[in-house]
Amino acid sequence: MNTVDTLIHARWVIPVTDGDPVLDHHSIAVHDGRIVAILPTEQARAKYQGHIENEYHSHAIIPGLINAHTHASMSLFRGIADDLPLMDWLNNHIWPAEQQWVNEEFIHDGSELAIAEMLRSGTTCFNDMYFFPNITARVARDAGIRACVGLIVIDFPTVWANNADEYIEKGLDLRDKFRSDALIHTPFAPHAPYTVSDEPLKRLRVLSDEMDLPVHIHLHETMAEVELAVNSTGMRPLKRLEELGLISPNLVAVHMTQLNDDEIKLLAEAGSHVVHCPESNLKLASGYCPVQKLIDAGINVALGTDGAASNNDHNMIGEMHTAALTGKCVANDASALSASQTLRMATINGAKALGLDSQTGSLEAGKYADMVAIDFNSLELSPVYNPVSHLVYSCGREQVTDVWVAGKHLLKERALTTLDEHKIISKVQAWNDKIE
Ligand SMILES: [Zn+2]
Repeated sequence: MNTVDTLIHARWVIPVTDGDPVLDHHSIAVHDGRIVAILPTEQARAKYQGHIENEYHSHAIIPGLINAHTHASMSLFRGIADDLPLMDWLNNHIWPAEQQWVNEEFIHDGSELAIAEMLRSGTTCFNDMYFFPNITARVARDAGIRACVGLIVIDFPTVWANNADEYIEKGLDLRDKFRSDALIHTPFAPHAPYTVSDEPLKRLRVLSDEMDLPVHIHLHETMAEVELAVNSTGMRPLKRLEELGLISPNLVAVHMTQLNDDEIKLLAEAGSHVVHCPESNLKLASGYCPVQKLIDAGINVALGTDGAASNNDHNMIGEMHTAALTGKCVANDASALSASQTLRMATINGAKALGLDSQTGSLEAGKYADMVAIDFNSLELSPVYNPVSHLVYSCGREQVTDVWVAGKHLLKERALTTLDEHKIISKVQAWNDKIE
């Protein structure tokens, strides 16, 4: 008999591995934060003994969801400006509100709110881009969630830095501080081609090549962005990034609603990644990312919610639902974006985009135990012929009961174990009163 830290017995284990298996009555043995084995429950009971042993009789255990594009602390701007197109929304509402309110305390409280919301909807890793990434990193580490805290770069001055060089220096400093932290990763995050000029982009390209770090950037979000770039530079933004040498396996391009066939070919050949944010794109009427076309071309497509000011939530279960339905509509094909394909986008594909697929993104021996339990014992999820179908087409985030990151139980029967829900709500209420 082998003793492990945690032994979990589940009705279904959905590991999101090759062939998309659904394992009936399986168990997961976890030790030192990592998955040791996944095996039939009968065999697990004979082979392993857990310091903690939990039964999930009516649950599916899935890999933790990976939200591949967020601006976490914008959660404090949830619902502040709706029903507007991107540039009006940014120029006349979001940027002025950021100028007035964003400071270290705002980032701290907003990050906590977002992380609490993410954990309660089954997200175990998020890829962020915002000011004061040092604070978001600290909040994430204290909460125990895995985070890619983007080293943001913009040309113009903000509360975080005064110019592109200072953004980069502060980012590299932050990277050094969290280098030995297994939960915190630090990709580069230049905001967008229209807010970052050639010189800093060239510098990021060199740094990203040297350090093998992802470059997370908003790209081809709207037709207006592309038209504006063509008018001012004579090139589409993707072409400009190609000339700067940024189209590579490290590119994590967010949105991509405007793509022609040559550009799809370019991304596929380079091994670049795309993050699809369907709800943000729908809400801002930005356009549609041709997801099935990208997948057919061999491009890795991950899924993200974007910030809570344009979505307006961090609910990856809802995002899967929207992605699958709009993906079919855009492809004019009901077989496009199948349930299992969509679940891959929300898990292993996110891990691949962030360079973390050897650590997380699927349930396999050797990987971190980043896992989510979803309870299927409800009227809304009955009957169950195919649990993967339910995850994408029927499930709500309320059905997430338990979440682990690196084996640590962060959500226990819907209660947060490292964050104080009531304290968070009262701090958010204070911001609500102030901003109002
Ligand atoms: Zn965004």
